[in-house]
Amino acid sequence: MPQKKIFLNESEMPSHWYNIVADMPNKPLPPLHPGTKQPVGPDDLSPIFPMDLILQEVSTERFIEIPDQVQDIYKIWRPTPMMRAYGLEKLLDTPAKIYYKYEGTSPSGSHKPNTAVPQAYYNMKAGVKRLTTETGAGQWGTALSFACQQFGLGCEVYMVRISYDQKPYRKFMMNTFGAEVFASPSNRTQAGRDILALDPTSTGSLGIAISEAIERAVGDEHTKYSLGSVLNHVLMHQTIIGQECLKQLEYAGDYPDIVIAPLGGGSNFAGISFPFLRQNIVNGKKTRFIAVEPASCPKLTKGVFKYDFGDTAGYTPLLPMYTLGHNFRPASIHAGGLRYHGASVLCSQLLRDGLIEANALQQLECFDAGVKFARAEGIIPAPEATHGIAQVIREAEQAKKEGVAKTILFNLCGHGFVDMQAYADYFEGKLNDHFFTNEELTANLAEIEALQPA
Ligand SMILES: *Cc1c(COP(=O)(O)O)cnc(C)c1O
Repeated sequence: MPQKKIFLNESEMPSHWYNIVADMPNKPLPPLHPGTKQPVGPDDLSPIFPMDLILQEVSTERFIEIPDQVQDIYKIWRPTPMMRAYGLEKLLDTPAKIYYKYEGTSPSGSHKPNTAVPQAYYNMKAGVKRLTTETGAGQWGTALSFACQQFGLGCEVYMVRISYDQKPYRKFMMNTFGAEVFASPSNRTQAGRDILALDPTSTGSLGIAISEAIERAVGDEHTKYSLGSVLNHVLMHQTIIGQECLKQLEYAGDYPDIVIAPLGGGSNFAGISFPFLRQNIVNGKKTRFIAVEPASCPKLTKGVFKYDFGDTAGYTPLLPMYTLGHNFRPASIHAGGLRYHGASVLCSQLLRDGLIEANALQQLECFDAGVKFARAEGIIPAPEATHGIAQVIREAEQAKKEGVAKTILFNLCGHGFVDMQAYADYFEGKLNDHFFTNEELTANLAEIEALQPA
């Protein structure tokens, strides 16, 4: 019987991140300055990011070395295990071979520290004293709090109000790692005060929280801002996941026909997919890559490919991406990490070019899949991760119909131990599916039109 768990030694941990821009047939369009509609230069970004990260953001180098100090901290949880999902295969009675990479062993319980640690490191190197950020469900805030603690940086987190109220344990985790946490919209920033003036009971959104965190960074020379997804350098840091998978599957004597991951901004999907996508582009492999989004926030399958802001107040550069509009307010689904209005520039371009696929799933199907997985494999997945699992089950059932032993790899990007309220609501029948309407889209499209370059 082959192994259930496929481990790597620490000495086998990848020494470089992979930058897919070097191999993309069509390079991503440049981010634009919203005032001039001209490409932004490094100096436009220097008030909010340290130069090392800005250079990574625009780099076309294929591999970028992971600094020793970052590798040392990665070793707290990396390399992460890959598992063969024998239990799920048996439950589904499928000929498909299902593997999953488990990123829930990290300090925050998800893939997010893979980028939080290098981001904190480069800021420390640049003499920065404090980082600000936003967090939705609390995963990213927890990861950055941990990373800042490792490098002696202060950490200020703007947490979307609805999560702040519903998910107090994430806040306590951030406090444990030494961070200050504020419910967003807050009274600490102009962006927050503007929203509260319009709607004093606003439950917040990721877009608003990003605006608050950026405003704080712009207003203080010792403070910079850190983003947990969407940007090129964030996706690149996550490629350590897929590079480990390449080696682990080699040890298992296998190669994926399909790679699946949930997509919020695109970082964990990119992390597991891009090293395999390189094999498609460079070595003629034929793997399919499926990004799974919630049906209530379907930017990839229902959105438009346009320039749009990454935040609500319009502080970020304009990014060429699939978007539902920066003022889109998704229905309150429990997978907080998937409630973002846009998708990363890299994933958007790859989808446009047909190199990756996307599907949108309803949350009841996802929770059902999550419960099946927990019972078969013994790990309770994060609500975000259940979207990937639901797609895996669809593909495994299809493989059964076709009678083919497809190899499926998915990213179990986080555990759900701090998200049990979502499961409780699911068991009590309080969750609903959401059928996205054209009105939801058109309501925000006019303001995007005005942002397009001539
Ligand atoms: C943040 C998060 C996501 C969504 O973000 P991506 O950048 O798309 O990966 C998905 N799953 C978990 C567990 C997360 O914490």
